[in-house]
Amino acid sequence: MSQDRILTHSLGYPRIGKKRELKFALEAYWRGSSSLEDLQATAGELRRRHWGEQESLGLVPVGDFSLYDQVLDMSATLGNLPQRVQGLGGDPLDNYFRVARGRAAQGAGAPEECGCGGGVAAGEMTKWFDTNYHYIVPEFAENTRFELDASRLIAQLAEATEARVSAKPVIIGPLSYLALGKSKDGSDKLGLLSRLLPVYSELLDALARRGAEWVQVDEPILVTDLDERWQEAFRVAYAALRARPVKLLLATYFGRLKENLSLLADLPVEGVHLDAINGREEVNTLIEAMPEESVVSLGVINGRNVWKTDLQATLEWLEPLKARLAGRLWLAPSCSLLHVPVDLDSEDRLDAEIRSWLAFAKQKLKELRVLALALNEGRDAVREELEDNRKAIESRRSSERVHNPKVQDALQGISPELGRRKRPFMERAPRQAKILKLPEFPTTTIGSFPQTKEIRRARSQFKKGKIGRDVYLNTMREEIASCVRQQEELGLDVLVHGEPERNDMVEYFGEQLDGYAFTDFGWVQSYGSRCVKPPLLFGDIARPKAMTVEWISYAQSLTEKPMKGMLTGPVTILNWSFVRDDQPRSVSCYQLALAIREEVLDLERAGAQVIQIDEAALREGLPLRRSQWGEYLDWAVESFRIAANGVRDETQIHTHMCYSEFNDIIESIAAMDADVITIETSRSDMELLDVFDRFRYPNEIGPGVYDIHSPNIPTVEHMVSLMRKAAERIPKERLWVNPDCGLKTRGWREVDLALENMVEAAKQLRAEV
Ligand code: GLN
Ligand code: ZN
Repeated sequence: MSQDRILTHSLGYPRIGKKRELKFALEAYWRGSSSLEDLQATAGELRRRHWGEQESLGLVPVGDFSLYDQVLDMSATLGNLPQRVQGLGGDPLDNYFRVARGRAAQGAGAPEECGCGGGVAAGEMTKWFDTNYHYIVPEFAENTRFELDASRLIAQLAEATEARVSAKPVIIGPLSYLALGKSKDGSDKLGLLSRLLPVYSELLDALARRGAEWVQVDEPILVTDLDERWQEAFRVAYAALRARPVKLLLATYFGRLKENLSLLADLPVEGVHLDAINGREEVNTLIEAMPEESVVSLGVINGRNVWKTDLQATLEWLEPLKARLAGRLWLAPSCSLLHVPVDLDSEDRLDAEIRSWLAFAKQKLKELRVLALALNEGRDAVREELEDNRKAIESRRSSERVHNPKVQDALQGISPELGRRKRPFMERAPRQAKILKLPEFPTTTIGSFPQTKEIRRARSQFKKGKIGRDVYLNTMREEIASCVRQQEELGLDVLVHGEPERNDMVEYFGEQLDGYAFTDFGWVQSYGSRCVKPPLLFGDIARPKAMTVEWISYAQSLTEKPMKGMLTGPVTILNWSFVRDDQPRSVSCYQLALAIREEVLDLERAGAQVIQIDEAALREGLPLRRSQWGEYLDWAVESFRIAANGVRDETQIHTHMCYSEFNDIIESIAAMDADVITIETSRSDMELLDVFDRFRYPNEIGPGVYDIHSPNIPTVEHMVSLMRKAAERIPKERLWVNPDCGLKTRGWREVDLALENMVEAAKQLRAEV
């Protein structure tokens, strides 16, 4: 009987801590205000606490805990930290942090966003699949050699044993490790596989010697497009690892296996994990394709979202599978819980009704336990839990706070007309020019100006109720007034109000829209010690009243120059939120688009001649599979168009996108039909503009002329030469001069000097024509 029981496990747990303890411990260590022992003590406490919270599982992940990043951990385990950090002395952990943060050899902490702190260049950072987590990219070259350093894993395994945890070590598999890295010399990464495999064998042996029965090997690249060489490499690699004295659970997540399904099913491993949230329709095919005795682990609880699971519905689906697979069936969340907040119990200020619909990491594991009990012992064993769950699911399904008939009607009313400007750009441009009367190479900024200590203090005091609304509003108005004055003195052409009233470009709008809720501790790791707290989009989106009009009108009243209305676009708001799972992302996006559209029209009515709608995260939403890009881009671009294009032809629409590859999405960018797009290009030496040239992108472009991430003051000559390069690609009549991105992380002194030079550069360019 007992071998028929379903085993539960998890693929990974958040490590930052429910009060972000790890963040604060790391930053104190980096600042030099605490010791390595302090840091290790906090890390150890967190591991033990998190294992405790996972106690009910049959197997608990070990080694998923990281002081910075799990991919960087894997590089350390494989002896593949870049050469440039070797031999600098100090604790090995300092080498590790040097790669992560680019730390000076002396141990002086580098400014966080700079990552170039003098001594050593930081490793490159990039997005982990389609999440908002960023990992440190492994570096490869033809002569890369690997050497096992299992010390971190072995130490954590020993700790786990001491804590009486049923440990399952977690590692990143050899193919995903190679695929996620970057060849620095253009050599073929797959060429390194034969050197990598012996080290993996050694590692598995070492884990087996320390008592591990199962090892979870993550190969998420199996849900991406793989060519034949990579598929073949999978066969070679797992054939080489088959004879090790541990059982391998090969884990995939974040999407469907598609054509890689049979590849996975044929690999000689003892079990596989499949993301059954994203790939539910593949479950039966996979089971059929798998050998009789293999373990099938199903990820049945969404590890990427914050909603309660419908347990009854899940049981109805799982009961027949249990009957068929018996003890071969394992259950888990769909992926590591790294991507959700830790503990809903911390949220005592959250509205009770909304709270009853949610589950964070700790609560998700409780759901898993209920599912396993119901399957192992019958539903009666957990009758109460199932009943509570049913009520919560029912309440969310029928709540008036989720379903707003007016919004539904408005959605029905969407037609292509809504996203279309009245005239094409060529006819709009002269109309706008007549009103705006801008010089050639007009200058502007991206929106935010320095968020000074005073601004932050006023905001936090207002939130805590320490200062009244009037005092707060006056402080912000004064900030806006001085920001406008400064821009006039600098001689900029199109001004901004500076965004002092915004804590964050998504939260600011979420707070004013119906359908959004906010947590106090819903932090999710973004990279290293950095966390984000995505707002919860829970219901139909409506805009009770104008969100920005008063601020913009006030700013406009202070100047004769055009003042840009400043908004965040629907796609970016969506991509940086936890979204609903009861309707497609596209529907939520259209709802956001309609709300932003109303704001755009209100701004126009209030006299705004220029309105900017930021879509910083448009590219981030691209699906993992190329074949699905088209569908995403269709509704994302349409959402932007609905938000932006209801204005008169005389009104100039701007959009802004951060550093972003446009090569493969240029058609969609053009289809947005913004009159002006400002982009981040300075680090690419204007090469990013090539594609706009090749595509004959028809509208105006502001290629960022200096990198706002660096404290360096750009010279006039440098910016002039960058703009000349831009003018080789784009007709100069259609070029704007602006920084790369918003200025909120910079200080006023730098901003003044940089913009002074920028305006001077524009003057020189005008004199050249
Ligand atoms: N308008 C925003 C700002 O200037 C844009 C930020 C962004 O692109 N990430 O801060
Ligand atoms: Zn930007």
